[in-house]
Amino acid sequence: MLEGKSILITGAGSGIGQTCAEVFAANGAHVLVTDRNEQSGEAVARKIRDAGGKAIFHPCEVTDEQSVADAVAAAVRHFGGLHGAMNNAGIEMRSKPIHELTAEDIDAVLGVDLVGVFYCVKHEFLAMKDGGGGAIVNTASAAGVRGQINASDYVAAKHGVVGLTRAAACDGGALNIRVNAICPGLVMTPMAKGLMNEDPVFAKAVEGLRSRHVIGRFGETYEIANAAMFLLSDLSSFMTGTPMLVDGGYSV
Ligand code: NAD
Repeated sequence: MLEGKSILITGAGSGIGQTCAEVFAANGAHVLVTDRNEQSGEAVARKIRDAGGKAIFHPCEVTDEQSVADAVAAAVRHFGGLHGAMNNAGIEMRSKPIHELTAEDIDAVLGVDLVGVFYCVKHEFLAMKDGGGGAIVNTASAAGVRGQINASDYVAAKHGVVGLTRAAACDGGALNIRVNAICPGLVMTPMAKGLMNEDPVFAKAVEGLRSRHVIGRFGETYEIANAAMFLLSDLSSFMTGTPMLVDGGYSV
């Protein structure tokens, strides 16, 4: 489905990003695996190559605009252009009510989960417009379309990602660049497991959260990857500016 397409993924060293990198490569993409964690990112790229796929690791810290620009340049250098990108790197909420969040808490979560996506979209546009267009998927969340207790930092950032997606889609229309977002429900990645260990309110809420996914279970990383692959492929050629819910009905 992505035969020969050059695709960059941020936060591809773990969880949803890792599976996306693997699934995209298995479907013919040339994947630039990026993450701030060099060890895990290298391991994912190696695993893809060992399975016969095409992948290269490049470090990328999404809160550093120059680091993002360097990663985009690396994709263009290695693969001859940039056809797709998934801006997926993210961190979890600080698990506090809004009145307990410090300025540092707010900066940390918005810095990675919103500003990081902003830098990525900007530099991907610069590369894609020179190459005749492309497709971008931003990883938002079901928290990008509804509220959640003790998560105003994360909810604000993810709603911001949905807004950024819509606005960038408007700018991208004339450049043949499509921009969509994906809004996963709960997926038991290292991020979600870490939250369960560290946040007793979240851990207690998890069973209730399961039944609020009307399908009756949490998501699997490959289910997010399949949806992202569709948005990056030509099958979604008339879709742009869409926050696509992949949440087992959590938001209905
Ligand atoms: P994860 O913790 O398993 O993976 C996140 C990856 O991002 C890690 O490899 C980490 O090193 C990397 N990363 C974090 N900060 C970074 C930075 N500043 N620069 C570069 N890389 C950075 O988490 P996940 O659950 O796979 O989450 C992936 C995305 O999906 C996030 O944007 C998250 O908000 C979103 N999401 C997750 C869930 C869920 O239930 N797991 C639900 C909705 C949305």
